[in-house]
Amino acid sequence: MTENGPCACNELADLAIVPMGGDDSDVRVFESLDEKASFGQEKWWLRVFSCTVCDQKWLVGSDERIHDNHCFKRVDAETFRAITEQSKWPEDFQLYEQVLRLSVEEGAVAMFLDPQDQALIWTTQELIAARPEITIDEIAFALNLNIKQGKALLKNLEDISSPARGKHWWNFIPEWLMPRR
Ligand SMILES: [Zn+2]
Repeated sequence: MTENGPCACNELADLAIVPMGGDDSDVRVFESLDEKASFGQEKWWLRVFSCTVCDQKWLVGSDERIHDNHCFKRVDAETFRAITEQSKWPEDFQLYEQVLRLSVEEGAVAMFLDPQDQALIWTTQELIAARPEITIDEIAFALNLNIKQGKALLKNLEDISSPARGKHWWNFIPEWLMPRR
């Protein structure tokens, strides 16, 4: 039971952002939700839940690295069954980038004190790995950085992967994406 009713599903829009921690709104929302499937290691942010009170199904992308939000998408029973019975996940939140962008579009963003924070660096690597054609502007947008900070992040990535440090898998970052010296 929650303060305003047996579950919080009706208080959420079809596509909703639920902040982690803070006012504990996430605790209230998740109180009636049962996790029914998770995508697994490859897409660790992606899970599907069913409400034990009203039976609503929710696709949830959880970004605990950058903006600290859960992104909720209301899904129908058919979509839910495809996930739980055939491991067929919908297009939504398939890229971590989509989850990050939603927070930015909704204005629910984090500002890193250190624009070279490890979380930003790791996430940038993964954004590029997931979608090699991603632009600096798109990276900066998803991470809520300005273009200059985005370029500095990429420069840092390049330094980490310099020959002196040995070859790393992120050496595939395309030349054109690298900031000009
Ligand atoms: Zn519910």
